[in-house]
Amino acid sequence: AVRLRVAPSPTGDPHVGTAYMSLFNLAFVRQHGGRFVLRIEDTDRTRFRADSEQQVFDTLSWLGLTWDEGPDVGGPFEPYRQSERLDTYRPYVDRLIESGHAYHCWCTPGRLAQMREAQARDKKPTGYDRMCHGLTEQERAELPGFSETPVVRMFVPDDVPLVFDDLIRGTVSAPRPDDQVIFKADGFPTYHLAVVVDDHEMGITHVVRGEEWISSTPKHILLYQWLGLEPPKFAHMPLLRNPDSSKISKRKNPAARLTWFREQGYLPEALVNFLALLAYPPAKGPEGEDVEVFTFEDFSARFSWSDVNPVGPIFDMKKLDWLNGMHIRALDLDDFTSRLLPYLEADGILSGNPSLGELGRLREVAALIQTRIAHLTEAGALVAPFFAPDDMVEVADDARAQLGEDAVRVLDAASTALQALPDEHSGVLASVSTWTAPAIEAALRAAVIDGLGLKPKVAFTPLRTAVSGRRISPPLFESMEILGKTATLTRLDALRS
Ligand code: ATP
Ligand code: GLU
Repeated sequence: AVRLRVAPSPTGDPHVGTAYMSLFNLAFVRQHGGRFVLRIEDTDRTRFRADSEQQVFDTLSWLGLTWDEGPDVGGPFEPYRQSERLDTYRPYVDRLIESGHAYHCWCTPGRLAQMREAQARDKKPTGYDRMCHGLTEQERAELPGFSETPVVRMFVPDDVPLVFDDLIRGTVSAPRPDDQVIFKADGFPTYHLAVVVDDHEMGITHVVRGEEWISSTPKHILLYQWLGLEPPKFAHMPLLRNPDSSKISKRKNPAARLTWFREQGYLPEALVNFLALLAYPPAKGPEGEDVEVFTFEDFSARFSWSDVNPVGPIFDMKKLDWLNGMHIRALDLDDFTSRLLPYLEADGILSGNPSLGELGRLREVAALIQTRIAHLTEAGALVAPFFAPDDMVEVADDARAQLGEDAVRVLDAASTALQALPDEHSGVLASVSTWTAPAIEAALRAAVIDGLGLKPKVAFTPLRTAVSGRRISPPLFESMEILGKTATLTRLDALRS
């Protein structure tokens, strides 16, 4: 069975690239009934951030990109954090040193900096100059720039194979590497050694990662060769790019942080759909037309490496917004309602534990706004008036400013007309609701358009303001139906006084 992994480094807010890599890994895994491994690559202690790992778990879970083995769920190849596997790496390093494929290097950072300066000045090729190669510790100690604790470097031969097969790109050639450090003075392996050892130990069959690792792959293939291990297959995904074709980066784009998408009210299924489309063609409909809106399951079912586009895709936020709207509309009403809850809680509109009554009302309002928003964050402004105290609806300045001189007349006429409309809860007709949007609309049209001879915009603006406090709200008559007769009349009164 296939085994794939994503191997993020816990260096801060998870990168959108981590979700993108996970998605393509997982599409292939699920298609083949294989296993997906989450490995935390925390060997770079200088960039380590303690809260980052949990954020990786949270954001990937939110996206539904779930793993079968990992630090939190365990698995047959525990531990899944590299910092807890230090004992695993040392024997591999010793084997490489014994076989002459690796050597100790005692050069201080200062000596390496001097070396690089000299190389730049003399326009010589860059890379480690092998000063320590072939020397014993004593011999090296007599030369300048010696440090007590050595690192270990690969001894890259002249005939290093630079060409390899890539599932997406076919034959790829990479530049010649210099003698890379594989084991650091702090007792941690570097990425290059750890990734090879762990991919081997964890039985990884396919390594799917960003194209920035293409230049590292020859080093990894050398390590596999020297250790007598079979290398996995490789696929290097195109990096996500800005419209100016620079790479999406956390330092420059808020949208490079995975947590940002959730904060901005994107649905996880929309982001997954978007990330898939960035490097993969749309599905085909019955007439051969492009179908851009799809689920992870559809994507996984039709996935093939040969269809991945190797050219760096442009991150087009307009497309994401459109997809988000499409996925919002595709949710069933209960699902949509519950997706709103965290956003409404964040806005202080509902508590984390709303009552049944509040949930019932929210569901009714949700039905009105589902087709009207492109981000879940837009819901707050539309929903808030339905949970405001009826005699204290906050009226926005711009809404108040455009009330117009007919406002009081309109509010009076509307109140009278609505008072005459029977309440659904009164009398023998209790089961047949008369406080419905069509009945309210008919009553208001008769009273304020026909009765006062006003245009609909002039007539309905004060009513909308009374009910919602805003210029833009869910449909007026439906809103009144949801609020009920008493609340509606209280609100009309409140604006008048
Ligand atoms: P930056 O600030 O430059 O974005 P970073 O150092 O925070 O960088 P990295 O640690 O380099 O980000 O990358 C984290 C993960 O995200 C890596 O797996 C990398 O392959 C992936 N990644 C980074 N940039 C991109 C990109 N533009 N497109 C796709 N994946 C990316
Ligand atoms: N830790 C590396 C990263 O975050 C993993 C690269 C790989 O998949 O080999 O990009």
